[in-house]
Amino acid sequence: MVYESAQRVGPCDQCGAEVLSVVSETVNAATFEWAIEGSCSECEHIWHASGNGISAEVRAAIIADNGPSGLRIVDPDPSVGAMMRVIRSRESLPLHELRAAAEDLVANGRAGTLAEMSLLRERLEDQGVRAEVVFATPRPSGRTISLVKRVVYLVPPKRLSDPDTRTALVPHRLAEAEAELLAGYLESATVLAIAASRLPDRLTGRLLLPLGVMTDGEWVWNLDWADYVRAYRVDPSQQFRDHARSRNYAPVELDDDRLQQISRTLGVPG
Ligand SMILES: [Zn+2]
Repeated sequence: MVYESAQRVGPCDQCGAEVLSVVSETVNAATFEWAIEGSCSECEHIWHASGNGISAEVRAAIIADNGPSGLRIVDPDPSVGAMMRVIRSRESLPLHELRAAAEDLVANGRAGTLAEMSLLRERLEDQGVRAEVVFATPRPSGRTISLVKRVVYLVPPKRLSDPDTRTALVPHRLAEAEAELLAGYLESATVLAIAASRLPDRLTGRLLLPLGVMTDGEWVWNLDWADYVRAYRVDPSQQFRDHARSRNYAPVELDDDRLQQISRTLGVPG
């Protein structure tokens, strides 16, 4: 059996609150199934839907959350005829396109969800063509995402002159390399205020996070964002990511006068 799940943020269809649903695809004995399930923490509405075949909605959510899986032909001398038979069983194409699709499959493989690629691999192997399923993007080892049961909102990094907003903490929205650079920026800027105590993270309660306020002279944020970005790869905002990248992820040094000025502006005790 192959099973792949992901989480999707969307409005509760009873009360409109932003909630997480778990979407999944399963391949079991060559039967393909999709499912969506979730519960709303605001109105306690619970939903479950499932069906056979591919759901475009579930497929899109899985690819957005986990990244695509891939399939690659490993047979050194695969039979084009066998591959054409497999493709014909899935798509109706005129003969010349069928041949081109088979040749494309050998040259480029395919990409899709883990369940799709696994089913395609099974069908190819049934026809004597050896293929393997590959993850196009490396999977995080811990899969902390499965522990996330509800939507948590935090104040994201903001420009000094902007009001506070709230954003949902949605894991796995950043590539690992960018998350690391961004987390480094978030924790190496200037400390405006810091507390001695630490608090459990709001997503899984597994990490102890520092309490502090940071600034780079233009933006201000709570220090725990460094951990939400590094450990859970939450996206603080496209604007902030662009800003940090434009500074090559190296915060500038701020002098005391500037710091005091910022503290006064924000009402943070300096
Ligand atoms: Zn609701």
